[in-house]
Amino acid sequence: MPPSAHPVGGIDYPRTYQEFRSWFPDDQACREYLAGLRWPNGFECPNCGSGGCWQVGRGLRMCVQCAVKTSVTAGTIFHRSHTPLSTWFAAVWFVTSSKNGVSAQGLQDALGFGSYETAWAWLHKLRRAMVRPDRELLGADPGIIVELDQSFLGGRSTGKQGASSDKTPITIAVERTPRGRLGRVRLEVADRPGGLDMIEFATQVVAPGATIHTDGARMFPRLTALGYTHLATPATKGGHQVENPDAVMAGPHMVSSLLKRWTAGTLHYRLSYQHMPYYLDEFTFRFNRRNSRARGMLFYRLLQQAVDTDPHPLKDLIGG
Ligand SMILES: [Zn+2]
Repeated sequence: MPPSAHPVGGIDYPRTYQEFRSWFPDDQACREYLAGLRWPNGFECPNCGSGGCWQVGRGLRMCVQCAVKTSVTAGTIFHRSHTPLSTWFAAVWFVTSSKNGVSAQGLQDALGFGSYETAWAWLHKLRRAMVRPDRELLGADPGIIVELDQSFLGGRSTGKQGASSDKTPITIAVERTPRGRLGRVRLEVADRPGGLDMIEFATQVVAPGATIHTDGARMFPRLTALGYTHLATPATKGGHQVENPDAVMAGPHMVSSLLKRWTAGTLHYRLSYQHMPYYLDEFTFRFNRRNSRARGMLFYRLLQQAVDTDPHPLKDLIGG
C-alpha cells in the first residue's frame, strides 16, 4: 500500500463499509496495511536503520543486517494487544465513520464487547493516537491569525461565566484564515484560569513569528518578547465592558460551544478532570478534519498516527 501525501479513496483507504470488509478479511491484511503506513518507503530496521528484511512468520520482519525481529505493531497502540487486529480495525472504522464519534456504550454494543470497561479503555487508546504532539504548528501560513483564549468545561453549570470550582479551564488556540473562517484548533487543560501556562502552550502550538490575537489580559504582552506579533482587543476599559467578551474572542468562543455540545451529545457522561486531555484530543482530531467529506480519510489518518510513533526502547520494539 503506497503512502500518499494526498490519500485517495478506494486506493489508500476504503470508501465504504463494503470496501472496508473486503480489504481487511483477516489480521494478515491488517498487518500489511499498517506496514504500508509505518514504513512508507519500505521497511526500516528500528535497531540499525537498514532497509532489507525477511518475513519470518507471525507478522514479524527480521533485519537482514542485524537479525533483530520487529513486528509492525511493536511500539504502537496495538502493541501486545491480545485482541485480533481486525477487531481493532473495526473499532477504528466505527469511531471514524460516525461524524461525532461514539460513546463507550456505543462501541460496546457495536463490537459486542463483554464489558463496558473494555470499550472505554479502547476509546482512550485510540484517542491517544488522535493528536500527535509534533504536528504542524498553527499560524504558519501567511495571513493566518491565531486566536488564543480560555473557556471552562465540565461540572455543573452555574448559569454564569467564570470558574466555579468543578469546572476545568481549557486553553483554546484556533486559526482565523484571511477569509474570516476558522482553521485548525489546539486545546489544552490549563493549570488554572489565566495562568502563565497559556503562554507556554502558545509557544508549543503556534509557529514562531506568527500573529496571536488575545483579549489583552496582563500576561499576553509577553508574547511579543517571545517573537510573536500580538494583537489585543480588550473587552474592558477602565473597569467597564466595552464589548461583548464572546464577540471579542469569537473563534475560541465558537470552539468552546462546539466542544460543550459534543461532550454533552456524544459522550453522555460527566467528564472527569483526569481524562479531559483525551476528550480534547478526540475533539481536536474531529474538528481539524470537519471539512473532510471522506470519512475513510479519518480512518486512514488515525491508523497512520497510531503507527507513527516516536522511537521506543529496543526491548519494546522486538516482537515475539
Ligand atoms: Zn537491523
